[in-house]
Amino acid sequence: MSCLFCRIVAGEIPASKVYEDDQLIAFNDINPQAPTHVLVIPKRHIVSLAEATPDDAELLGKLTASARTIADLCHLKDGFRVVMNSGVKAGQSVFHLHMHVLGGRAMAWPPG
Ligand code: 5GP
Ligand code: ZN
Repeated sequence: MSCLFCRIVAGEIPASKVYEDDQLIAFNDINPQAPTHVLVIPKRHIVSLAEATPDDAELLGKLTASARTIADLCHLKDGFRVVMNSGVKAGQSVFHLHMHVLGGRAMAWPPG
């Protein structure tokens, strides 16, 4: 299995887990860009939002809704930012769909 995040799901690569349920797993980013920087991924391999299909809609809804769970678990009372990079030009570097949940500092807009 070559996908890094599938290997984390399989337990082959360690990760600092924040949350897990039957469909999702959340863990701390190895190179955090904010005091809290959690990645939430579907356990099922989807390459990116650009590759997602209507059949993935329920899973993507659960992924998005999990941001609130992560914010509660990480005590992000002052707000948080959710980012999903889709494609190389958007900054995607791991091609297993994931949602960044960032918090614990003020965020600038627009993103770079
Ligand atoms: P992307 O650039 O694809 O939107 O986000 C990929 C994220 O995965 C990056 O923020 C990067 O720091 C993180 N990352 C890459 N390899 C690992 C790893 O082995 N473990 C963890 N926990 N995060 C990783
Ligand atoms: Zn994968």
